[in-house]
Amino acid sequence: MTLNQSVLICDQINPTLNEILEKNGLQITYEPEITPDQIAEQIANFEVVIVRSRTKITKDLIQRAEKCKIIARVGVGLDNIDQDAAKEKGIRVINAVEGAMNAVAELVIGLMLSLAREIPRADREIRTGNWIKKELMGTELRGKYLGIVGLGNIGKRLGRTARALNMNIIGYDVDPIDEEFSKEVGLMKADLGTLLASADYISIHVPLLDSTKHMINAENISTMKNTTRIINTSRGGVIDEEALYEALKVGKITGAALDVFETEPATSSKLVQLPNFISTPHIGAQTKEAQSLAANVIAEKIIQILRGII
Ligand code: NAD
Repeated sequence: MTLNQSVLICDQINPTLNEILEKNGLQITYEPEITPDQIAEQIANFEVVIVRSRTKITKDLIQRAEKCKIIARVGVGLDNIDQDAAKEKGIRVINAVEGAMNAVAELVIGLMLSLAREIPRADREIRTGNWIKKELMGTELRGKYLGIVGLGNIGKRLGRTARALNMNIIGYDVDPIDEEFSKEVGLMKADLGTLLASADYISIHVPLLDSTKHMINAENISTMKNTTRIINTSRGGVIDEEALYEALKVGKITGAALDVFETEPATSSKLVQLPNFISTPHIGAQTKEAQSLAANVIAEKIIQILRGII
């Protein structure tokens, strides 16, 4: 049975998604640069609306989405979709949690190594003719304590990958932690305070909620070791950037790496001026494999929902 329904794709998305949906008879309108005003004009014509992170699906847009059954985010975080408004209108909101976990976990490993060995600085200096071998005395990840805050899909994948590098894993989550995972990595469960005060590396993997806003702040940064390095690839806002800036400036902690910021693009953030800070432009899920996996997962979910299977 072909699914004779209309789909609006609002952002640049892996072509696999179009291919699978078209094979199932769905009619695709692909508008990767569409503006909010244009969406407002057209949204009433579509049963399915698909976004990545550029497009915000606001309450106003949802109220105009007369025929809409599904809003799909080809990614993990749903903060660009007004989920309450969608629920009120009986629209299913779906995402692809499986897509990004390996990509983000590998990026964290890259950022930890970059902090430990000052790889970005080494590269910058060599390009300007400076061979600063003597200044670049690094440290190793092996044997260090990695504190993972939030042991969901990404946090667990990171734990397993870091274990392969012989790091010791400390974990904190508000929900019970998967026992099989705990055994596999030899997890040391801890409360947030103990984790922050004892870890050499702290990596954050929680959603941005009222309860996680500024979860890392001046008060708990003051309890960290001077040798601690923090990595955040979850959402800007979970770390208080002003507090992080002050701590890095005075050497309260050794380093930090952010892939996500309170305001993005973050090119004018004062953090990027600090020598013990490194950053990437929200590229956690930006791998060919993650995008293709997320596109496949979303296509499959849309088809199953429209066929009444899930
Ligand atoms: P997930 O839902 O699988 O896991 C989140 C975990 O955080 C859960 O286990 C939950 O119980 C825990 N948690 C929630 N509130 C907490 C709190 N107050 N204290 C401790 N733990 C808490 O999510 P995920 O797929 O692992 O994604 C984690 C984060 O990574 C999300 O913020 C997501 O938006 C972000 N993300 C970023 C990128 C990127 O490009 N950088 C890509 C994908 C996901």
